[in-house]
Amino acid sequence: MALKIIVCAKQVPDTNEIKIDPVKNTLIREGVPSILNHDDANALEEALKIKDMYPDTHITVITMGPPQAKDMLIECMAMGADEGILASDRALGGSDTWATSNALSAVIEKIGEYDIIFAGRQAIDGDTAQVGPQIAEKLGIPQVTYVTEFEMDKNMKDITVKRALEDGYEVIKIQTPCMLTAIKELNNPRYMTVGGIFEACKKEIPTWGAKDLGVDPVKEVGLDASPTNVFRSFTPAPKGKGIMIEADSNQEAAQKLLINLKAKHVI
Ligand SMILES: Cc1cc2nc3c(=O)[nH]c(=O)nc-3n(C[C@H](O)[C@H](O)[C@H](O)COP(=O)(O)OP(=O)(O)OC[C@H]3O[C@@H](n4cnc5c(N)ncnc54)[C@H](O)[C@@H]3O)c2cc1C
Repeated sequence: MALKIIVCAKQVPDTNEIKIDPVKNTLIREGVPSILNHDDANALEEALKIKDMYPDTHITVITMGPPQAKDMLIECMAMGADEGILASDRALGGSDTWATSNALSAVIEKIGEYDIIFAGRQAIDGDTAQVGPQIAEKLGIPQVTYVTEFEMDKNMKDITVKRALEDGYEVIKIQTPCMLTAIKELNNPRYMTVGGIFEACKKEIPTWGAKDLGVDPVKEVGLDASPTNVFRSFTPAPKGKGIMIEADSNQEAAQKLLINLKAKHVI
């Protein structure tokens, strides 16, 4: 039985270079390089590791974004994914997480069969970590988030994952079809290969719009359908310089610290 895996991947601005327009309070995207979201590279890598073991596994990478998100899909195929599908349409623009997961669920339903859906835990621009879990809810399949280890039984149905918690781990058994969201500890994403780049550039990338997906641009996707909107984005003002306490002993340092904190009415 050939496994069918879908990977949700988002093209995001390289955040090290992100600037915020001080007047409009929006991200300045012009001239900012776009990259494959980090956690999504881990999601894809885990799918590729399964394909390494079972070569007839089929991996489809899906993304919702502007036309240039095709470049990211080419990158994913150059890493080893079989195909990429782009959901792109003006009607999808301005979608919040709810509307984004509506669109991506519709893409997955149009694809039809799948065993595992991998997503990243979080996108580095929106940063909400909501889209993967929302897709699972909408498709009515079980999910495990924050996956840090993955193991699949030979029956290709039973999966055991280690899920990271703030102060430890959970080991969870889950069956396909399911949604798993990846974090960076899961693996080290591979690089594209030269042969992979050549092959990927030859492939057609279907683009599906709202009509193809059968989604309502007023009630299900896009800005108007989104219950949340980004009201304001800003860079927090840098913190002031810290105070270095100099002392000959720990006791003296603690005393000086207490005096400082009391003077500022912190304690
Ligand atoms: C600064 C900023 C703040 C925002 N704040 C909010 C907010 O508070 N609430 C809100 O609803 N929206 C918000 N948005 C909008 C947000 O960018 C979109 O909703 C976005 O399409 C999905 O949310 P996310 O980036 O938080 O994804 P996350 O939920 O963090 O992404 C988790 C995973 O889902 C998958 N995924 C997410 N988006 C896509 C995609 N387009 N294509 C394929 N896979 C995808 C990826 O695997 C990703 O790793 C914000 C956007 C910005 C730029």
